[in-house]
Amino acid sequence: MAFESLSDKLQDVFKKLKSKGKLTEKDVTAALREVKLALLEADVNFKVVKSFIDKIKERAVGQEVLESLTPGQQVIKIVHEELIDLMGSTQSKLTFSSMPPTVYMMVGLQGAGKTTTSGKLGGQIKKMGKKPLLVACDVYRPAAIKQLQVVGSQVGVPVFSIEDSKQPVEIAKAALEYAKANHNDVVIVDTAGRLHIDEKLMNELEEIKSAVKPQEILLVVDAMTGQDAVNVAESFNEKLGIDGVILTKLDGDTRGGAALSVRSVTQKPIKYVGLGEKLEDLQPFYPDRMASRILG
Ligand code: GDP
Repeated sequence: MAFESLSDKLQDVFKKLKSKGKLTEKDVTAALREVKLALLEADVNFKVVKSFIDKIKERAVGQEVLESLTPGQQVIKIVHEELIDLMGSTQSKLTFSSMPPTVYMMVGLQGAGKTTTSGKLGGQIKKMGKKPLLVACDVYRPAAIKQLQVVGSQVGVPVFSIEDSKQPVEIAKAALEYAKANHNDVVIVDTAGRLHIDEKLMNELEEIKSAVKPQEILLVVDAMTGQDAVNVAESFNEKLGIDGVILTKLDGDTRGGAALSVRSVTQKPIKYVGLGEKLEDLQPFYPDRMASRILG
């Protein structure tokens, strides 16, 4: 699971703080320096780290904290609150359109986990009592349609595709018509990914966006790529506008830098996290639970 190393380091820092009893400003500054190093080692964006530490310092070196009966505990509490804030405060839920079908457009680079996540999300939305439809718009990777059909059948969600079409915009439009005729109230469009962000990819995504007018554009990024994931999120957000992030492969991410930076850098919430390859391994993202996990 993510954050082991960060979690261990923070626990060491806090153990020292708690054992001291009375704290001076110097003690707090020294502890925060260690917190800063631990965050940088966890691959958290350096600007994010700086403003995070500055905020904590401002709150923690005041008389109220230092002269309290349990200053160590107070500092830990402040770090905990600021961690929650950093990750977006509260859970950010998917929104549904008042005029069904609600369209979610899944975007991201190849290999991030887009197709798998589309299937997982379809399965969860079905469990909410809705009638989702998956749409295969990745026309470049020959196995992509088949892969979506496989995950679709595993979660019992139908997949719309046009086998020999190379026109993702046409497929997306046809899928919407199909969904309306079949009373599918949620449409999840799985788009193509590439190895790098390029103009062709972005243009195609923009065309699909204007054709289907998604309720939400959900960016799927691989947590294991750390700051690269954050840069990808920044680029997609600037060029396309995203509504939320789904952070996959958190199960294999020992550092946690992407999870801690993405919200602050893009101002867009993490909505779900992927915690494994199985279809049930997609969970809503709760900033408070994540912060508690990090602090142990
Ligand atoms: P796409 O190219 O973005 O559509 O990526 P895929 O959906 O094909 O996923 C690429 C690989 O990542 C597959 O082997 C998935 O099983 C795997 N994967 C996706 N999400 C997760 C996750 O949360 N945890 C783990 N461990 N593997 C994942």
